[in-house]
This record gives sequence, C-alpha cells and structure tokens, in this order.
Amino acid sequence: MAEEAFVSEGRPVDLQWGQICNQLKMEFGETAFDSWLKPLTVGDFKDGVMNICAPTAFMKNWVVTHYSDRINKIWEQQNPDIKKINFIVQTGFSDRRSVDTSLLKKISSSPTPQNIYGCNINSSSFGLVAGASLANDTSNSNSNITNGTPLNPNYTFENFVVGKTNEFAYAAARKVAESKNVSFNPLFLYSSVGLGKTHLMHSIIWHIKKNDPTRNVIYLTAEQFVYKFVKALRYKDTAAFKEQFRSVDVLMVDDFQFMGNKGTTQEEFFHTFSSLVEEGKQVIISADKSPTDLDGIEERLKSRLVGGLVVDIMPTNFDLRMGILQKKAELMGIELPQKVAEFLAQKITSNVRELEGSLKRVAAHSQLLSGKEITLDMTQDVLKDMLRSIDRKTTIDEIQKKVAEHFNISVKELQSSRRARTVARPRQIAMYLAKQLTSRSLPEIGRKFDRDHTTVMHAVRKVEELIIEDQSLAENIEILRRTLEN
Ligand code: ADP
Ligand code: MG
Repeated sequence: MAEEAFVSEGRPVDLQWGQICNQLKMEFGETAFDSWLKPLTVGDFKDGVMNICAPTAFMKNWVVTHYSDRINKIWEQQNPDIKKINFIVQTGFSDRRSVDTSLLKKISSSPTPQNIYGCNINSSSFGLVAGASLANDTSNSNSNITNGTPLNPNYTFENFVVGKTNEFAYAAARKVAESKNVSFNPLFLYSSVGLGKTHLMHSIIWHIKKNDPTRNVIYLTAEQFVYKFVKALRYKDTAAFKEQFRSVDVLMVDDFQFMGNKGTTQEEFFHTFSSLVEEGKQVIISADKSPTDLDGIEERLKSRLVGGLVVDIMPTNFDLRMGILQKKAELMGIELPQKVAEFLAQKITSNVRELEGSLKRVAAHSQLLSGKEITLDMTQDVLKDMLRSIDRKTTIDEIQKKVAEHFNISVKELQSSRRARTVARPRQIAMYLAKQLTSRSLPEIGRKFDRDHTTVMHAVRKVEELIIEDQSLAENIEILRRTLEN
C-alpha cells in the first residue's frame, strides 16, 4: 500500500511522528506495527508534554508496556522540546478507512456494546493478562492464585452437574482437589469448548482455598503464561519468573492449546513442568484436544503430558442437559417449566455455554416483562434467531462469501496474505463471525484463511474491541450477522 509511508502535513510534531512511525515499523516489523502502532495518533502538545492517543485502553496499556520506551527514546533524539510523552485513551475513534459508511443501513436495534462484549467473557482473558504484571500479582489473595483472572464464584463442584459424559473428569478433578498426595501427574482435561473444563479448574481452586488454604496454587491460561514469560525475558527477569512458578504446590494451566508454536516459552514450560513433577507437585492442564492431537507442541512435552491421567469430557447428552438446566434455573432463582426445559435440551445441543446463554436470555426477557411466566411460546419467540441459525448451520465458506461481497472484495483476497487494511479488516471480521456463528475451533477457522489459530484469536479480539469503539463497524457486522442468520 502506498499509504504505508507516514508522511503527514501540519504541525512539526505530526511530521516527526510520521518519521518515527517509519522507524518503528522497521524495528518492530509490519505486523506488530499495524496492530499496535499504526492506530496511534498525535494529540495535544503543550508545555513540553505530548499526548499520544490510542483508541482503546487495552491498546494503550499494550503500547505503554511494549513500545513506550522506544518511542520516548526516538522522540527525545528528534525533538528536545518534548519533555514528556503521555499515552492516553481517546474513545470515539472510528476507523473510517476500514468501513465504507455508504454501505450503512440504519438498523433499528443495534446491540449495545455490553451485549456483544458480554457474550464472550471467557475469551477476553487476554485483556487481563496485559494489565497484569509479576509485581502486582500478589496484591490480594485471589489474584495471587489466579494471576489477575477472577475466579468465578459459581464454578464450584456443588454447581457442577454430573452425568455419563463428564463423570470421570469430575471424579478426577475432585480427587486432585481433595488429596494432598499426588496420584496422577499431570491431570490433563480436554474437550471442545463450553463443556466445563474451566468450571472444573475453578472448582478445584475453591475447594483447595476452603480446605487447605496454605497450599500455594497458581492458575493461569497458557496465554498468560506466554505473556509473562515474554515479559520476563524482555525485562531480564527470568529468575523471578522461574522462582514464582517453581515454588507452587499446584500449577494449573487452562487452554493449553495456546502454548503451541512458542519455542522458548514451551521449553521454559517444559522445565517448569518437569521440575514440579519431580518434586511431587500437582500439575493440572486443560486443552481443547488430547496431548497427542495438540498442534505445535514438542514431542517430548507431549509424551510428558500423557504420562499422567488424560481425561476427556464428551459432548452432553439429553439427560445431562436437563440436569444442567434445572441447576442453572435454581441458581438464577427462576421457575423453569418442564416443557421449556425439554425444548431447550432438545434444541441446544452444541455445548453447555450456549445452553446456559439461551436460558439467560429467556430469564432476562421474563424479568423485563415484570416477572412474566416463562412459557414455551415465549421461549420460541425470544430464541428465534438463535434457533434458526442452529437449524441452518452457517458455514465458514458462506461467511467468507458474504463478507467479501459486503466489502466488495473477492473471496480469494480474503484468504490471501495481503495486509492492506481494505482486505485485512474484512478478513478479521470474517474470522470473528466464523467464531461467533459456527462451532468451529480457532485452528479450523485459521485453516480456512490459511492462517494459524493465533491470528484468528487476535482478529476476534480486535473486532471485539472495535465493536465497542466504532458504531459504524458494529452496524456493518450486525448487518452481516443478520444476512447470514436468515
Ligand atoms: P470450557 O472451559 O470447557 O470451554 P466452561 O467451563 O467455561 O467450558 O463452561 C461453560 C459454561 O457451562 C460455564 O458457565 C459452566 O458453568 C457451564 N457448565 C459446563 N458444564 C457444566 C456442568 N456439568 N454443570 C454445570 N454447569 C456446567
Ligand atoms: Mg475454558
């Protein structure tokens, strides 16, 4: 793209920023530059203080942690008048280059940001990681265990409904939570999404916290582990990192699939893991696949992972879904008629998260209508979009086709390696919609775009953020979603 050259007109600082951008791009590479630095803009410059604006808090934190030192340095050399650089969030940005606003049709009920954001609480843990640091992890007892990820108070053994498909995983989790002596190491739990892995992991922690609070537990996602390790490397603080991880009694790593293809980090994990196992400390891991099927994991690590107990949680059956609905209704304090429960348990079979989501929608609807009784008619009406899409089963091919059409590019371009924003943004939107509207995993979606799962993950997060910041983009996505669901 010719527009990649950052030459701007106006104030001298704008011109300097253009030059700094070119330098940053060379130093950090195009991908990092496009993701984190390109969206920054130069704000006020007064009394030697310069404001650099980022479109979101997440992005600002990331830039401060990773790039601010370098930006300060370069600018210092360029312009001695600049005494201080402030990184600030400037909301209300809209990325007009990426969205053709003439395509905008006003839609009557565009979802609130909270709505969209709220759908995806589990996958937003990255934001928490970015804000966390080794130093502030010990600020309170909860974050000491979870490294900043809040423990869900409802994810307890008592609230976990046991059925044929998950009884073994449940028994194994209880066993590790209850016994001081390690009987299998590691415990490796796997299943596709929304079947209760994180719920069981949190249950173990709650149990230990209650019954044996002196045990030192660390729970984090593989992404958090990677982030912390990379940060420790950057700040030459690996000794503290090793110390922190090797002094625990129980190490729990959730979503281990995201440890894939991470050379040095994986090696560090391997050593941490081996030293803990040798010392008889418990390691518990969850992932979306069995150790042998994990992509990008070294053979020697795989073979250590299968050395303990590997347990899978299978897709739910009707009875379990009924049990779960009853339990969740009880926790939510709502009256759920048997007929409605049966209907939901028959229709929503993909995973428990979706089942719970549909129950919440119905409950919220009844509460909005001042406690109106939940009926089968009302349920069918409230969930009609969802049920229709389940009946139709949207495919990734269809999503690619519609998104390409909408943005007036070809499907080939969407799948290509071109990074121009006019292609890259629609590609991210297509990935986001594929994650939202299909039950495909991140690696599966990635393959359809000739990318790996981390790119898809990044795209999903990016779009989640943009939806909050950029009304017109949110509306474009909503139009696409409706077209695809109809
Ligand atoms: P995963 O980590 O496997 O993707 P989660 O543990 O996040 O799945 O579960 C998704 C949702 O489904 C959570 O709200 C969880 O409480 C619920 N859930 C899953 N399995 C059960 C179960 N057997 N009993 C009660 N709730 C469950
Ligand atoms: Mg999970």
